[in-house]
Amino acid sequence: MKKITIEAKAKINLTLDVLYKRPDGYHEVESIMQTVSLKDWIFLKLIPGPAIELSSNCQELPRDERNLAYKAARLMMEEYQLDAGMAIHIDKNIPIGAGLAGGSADAAAVILGINEMFQLNRPREELMALGKKIGADVPFCIAGKTALARGIGEKILPLKPLSNFGLVLAKPPYYVSTQEVYSRLNVKTIQKRPDTPAMMEHIEQRDIGEIASGLCNVLEEVTLKLYPELELIKQHLISHGALGSLMSGSGPTVFGLFESARDAERAAEKIGLDGNEIFVCKMQ
Ligand code: ATP
Repeated sequence: MKKITIEAKAKINLTLDVLYKRPDGYHEVESIMQTVSLKDWIFLKLIPGPAIELSSNCQELPRDERNLAYKAARLMMEEYQLDAGMAIHIDKNIPIGAGLAGGSADAAAVILGINEMFQLNRPREELMALGKKIGADVPFCIAGKTALARGIGEKILPLKPLSNFGLVLAKPPYYVSTQEVYSRLNVKTIQKRPDTPAMMEHIEQRDIGEIASGLCNVLEEVTLKLYPELELIKQHLISHGALGSLMSGSGPTVFGLFESARDAERAAEKIGLDGNEIFVCKMQ
């Protein structure tokens, strides 16, 4: 296969708990993650080796080894000794530095795409272990759908997939550094933690009301202190019919949860929130 096109879906966190800081400096987390229909498109094409050439519609993205998609291609070439070059084009729709794991999604798509292109037929677990070398969210992005992530986010337990519930994402016009948010978090004084086992049960039952009331992200208390207006965006989403609302990852994107994509679309038409980028999508 000389060419392939793959989707790279964004993720949201339905719960995010930080259990403790590990001796290696990383935080031990427990998070229920969900892929959504907002996606980048990744186009892979074989070129004479061993070059990797990266292009994108998004000028802000690095085009060298700082790009996670580039790193993923390099890693796959080395790991499986592929004697080829690769042109990667990223059609970027997922906002950058938004708490939606856009970079990890692109890396996961490249790993899956190369696996298919070269008919490597490697088991998903092996590709996920490889993806971890690029970033903690990459294994989840390879697995997709609904899953509990533990460790630094790389240990994935698939849950009964939620799909089709509607979402409105509001992305304020600034980036948040994940590293800064974690460095400001005091694990010992966290005010409110998610009830992860209860949320897993609500997901099993597909109980949207309970899922909405169980949404909880311990990083909110850090990011909301830096950007208090995020609380207003959450309330705004609720006042426009969202069943629940939460910040995704370390932010700043905030999502509102709806029974259906149609409900989300209707709410988005009236939502306003000038200055924010608004995306209507669904769990997928
Ligand atoms: P997370 O939720 O995992 O913290 P995020 O959504 O906050 O991730 P990303 O959009 O994945 O953040 O990107 C954060 C950084 O990664 C940016 O500084 C960006 O330049 C870099 N980056 C590298 N490759 C990519 C890529 N393919 N897409 C987006 N960002 C990338």
